[in-house]
Amino acid sequence: TSFEQMTLREDVLRGLFAYGYERPSRVQSQALPAILSGRDVLAQAQSGTGKTSMTAIAAVQAVRASSSELQVLILSPTRELATQTHDVITNIGQFVRGLRSQCAVGGGSGSSSKKGQGQSKRSVNSYAGVQIVSATPGRACDLLARGTLTVRKVRLLLVDEADEMMTRGLQERLYDIYRALDSRSQIVLVSATMPADVLAMTDAFTTEPLRILV
Ligand code: AMP
Repeated sequence: TSFEQMTLREDVLRGLFAYGYERPSRVQSQALPAILSGRDVLAQAQSGTGKTSMTAIAAVQAVRASSSELQVLILSPTRELATQTHDVITNIGQFVRGLRSQCAVGGGSGSSSKKGQGQSKRSVNSYAGVQIVSATPGRACDLLARGTLTVRKVRLLLVDEADEMMTRGLQERLYDIYRALDSRSQIVLVSATMPADVLAMTDAFTTEPLRILV
């Protein structure tokens, strides 16, 4: 499958080509069509095979730019990965008018200061109108608890490196976030390995997921 054969929007395709992506990687050609069709997906692929870019493509494609509500949440186990994903979204989404994406990682201005209520006001503003948030689970939970982020309108949750999430003890946070979502939300999980806790989480989060092994 080529990118052109997928149901990608014109402005997303343009962004992909401008970013230098000419054809999908293996995991992308196998999993993206299912993700774009709205199915829940569990994809197993090693890191460095294009799976992070895949979550970025899916995120950009899912956004309805006319809405200024949070629509897509991407969770990554580390700040570095969350930041990297946000960067790819910014690049691939450069031709999507009205697209607003933001990175939310731990230790930012909001969480570092206990006395500064003014800080949290500022972070309220910084998430206003943002349609995609790329976050670590800890930061996402923090923002949800403060009411800074609202996941009421989230239609797509992407969990990157699910196995690494488990290794880092982020399981409870993921379940907390999942429970806050609308039950109709589409769920995509990506993982390099499939330990029992990842499979259990998949069972808990997804409905008839398509399982892809690359
Ligand atoms: P990822 O696993 O998404 O971090 O991708 C690993 C590396 O491959 C990164 O340097 C990406 O920029 C690159 N990459 C991912 N998908 C593609 C693609 N379809 N075409 C060319 N390079 C890609």
